[in-house]
Amino acid sequence: MSRMRTYRIEAVILKRQDLGEADRLLTVLAPDRGKLRLVGKGIRKPTSRKAGHLELFTHANLLVARGRSLDLITQAEAVQTFRGLRDDLTRTTHAYYVAELVDQFATEDTENVLLFRLLLDALCQIETARRLDVLMRAFELHVLAAAGYRPQLHTCPRCRRPLTPVVNLISRAEGGVLCPRCGETDRTARPITVNGLKVLRFLQAEPLAAADRLNLSPEVRGELEQIMRAILEYTLERQLRSTAFLDLVRRQDDVRRLAQDDARRLAAESA
Ligand SMILES: [Zn+2]
Repeated sequence: MSRMRTYRIEAVILKRQDLGEADRLLTVLAPDRGKLRLVGKGIRKPTSRKAGHLELFTHANLLVARGRSLDLITQAEAVQTFRGLRDDLTRTTHAYYVAELVDQFATEDTENVLLFRLLLDALCQIETARRLDVLMRAFELHVLAAAGYRPQLHTCPRCRRPLTPVVNLISRAEGGVLCPRCGETDRTARPITVNGLKVLRFLQAEPLAAADRLNLSPEVRGELEQIMRAILEYTLERQLRSTAFLDLVRRQDDVRRLAQDDARRLAAESA
């Protein structure tokens, strides 16, 4: 059986790294192939016709040629460029975080239409969302589910009894919420309030857009961020660079500095 020399894919650009003088190594997510690493030849040259279609976070149709080690993008046509993400540093940073989580959870040569649709939906929502942090919590729950690690939020995974509206314990090791009795012996467990659990259940059951309907107190938002970060870090077994990046961006001085760096970088790129 002979292999085709070229193939077409629909993809979203997750990551870009410079390669050689004028090329870029792109990490992309395709619905039917999972994560791929592709070479964009000459796309850092100002004359490149493909470059504008291969920006970070762009949803594009690609024609790819098989290479000896890495495959090469020969044609690119943007479907959706998510302009709203690029004009606002806070939104850009959240898009970076989403792309990094997808990069971490996606596997190569594995069809995952759910993960691809989730990524597109998240990028769309980030463009306009008013409650970006709540949106991120929703995204985290959904990306865990799409990757096969859906947190159990209704029954205790140890004794299988339905959880009651009391302070239960979220267990990183179990990837879910334990009843107070089972949670006692789990050293990775931390308390989760009745309200916190209610919000997580809502976000898990609803589409991402529902995050904007929730008006949460700073306490609940803080609690949920801590809980989701612990679950994600445990699941990914490593500290996420973007999590640290998000902390940075919250500090106003850093935002200004990063904005300047980013503006400089974009100016240099388009020069
Ligand atoms: Zn239990």
